[in-house]
Amino acid sequence: MSYVFNPPATVSVPVVGRAERFPVNRVYCVGRNYEEHAKEMGFTGREPPFFFLKPANAIVVVNAGETGSIPYPTLTKNFHHEIELVVAIGTGGKNIKAADATKHIFGYAVGLDMTRRDLQGEMKKQGRPWCIGKAFDHSAPIGPIVPAAQVGDINNAELAVTVNGAHRQKSTVAKLIWNVAETIEYLSAAWELQPGDLIYTGTPEGVAAVVSGDLMVGTVAGLPDLRVKVA
Ligand code: MN
Repeated sequence: MSYVFNPPATVSVPVVGRAERFPVNRVYCVGRNYEEHAKEMGFTGREPPFFFLKPANAIVVVNAGETGSIPYPTLTKNFHHEIELVVAIGTGGKNIKAADATKHIFGYAVGLDMTRRDLQGEMKKQGRPWCIGKAFDHSAPIGPIVPAAQVGDINNAELAVTVNGAHRQKSTVAKLIWNVAETIEYLSAAWELQPGDLIYTGTPEGVAAVVSGDLMVGTVAGLPDLRVKVA
């Protein structure tokens, strides 16, 4: 096989305790999946889950113990952090029942769904797609993936993000409106999930802006921290 130019390299994420890396396929994100965040965005927190996508090359891998860097993006004056639990799919499937969902999960990681909030808001107002607010370059920092068997009770894990040491978002995965298994059931009814798919499961309340020079530290209990500086 030859190509008219070199194809892009496969995006991949390190796996804790393994030499092999996790190759990224699609990056799904769940919107408004914590009630208090839905309310702060002006909604009730009671709607069915909905989804958007980021391109795989929006992923910014940050190794354990390291501090990653993302540029302050163009076109925005309101660049927001959203701390999220990320689910890594190891076995694909469609119409997966919530009761069977864990069999499809390879592992978990800490992610940040970085958002150009002003552009997202403008698109919402105009009824247009969110891509420019959500799916831009460097918008999906992620830490190493921990295999599911090595993770404790992820469904009750605390998650948080600090900015320059100050608390911004703090909640627990237990407060997901649609938990991980239910999210996989909904998502796999709409798309056939494939190995390598990532799911950013949604963010709790407390989303706020960062500026150049800020250091974000995202945590989900039981997973390696995610440290990202805004350049
Ligand atoms: Mn999000």
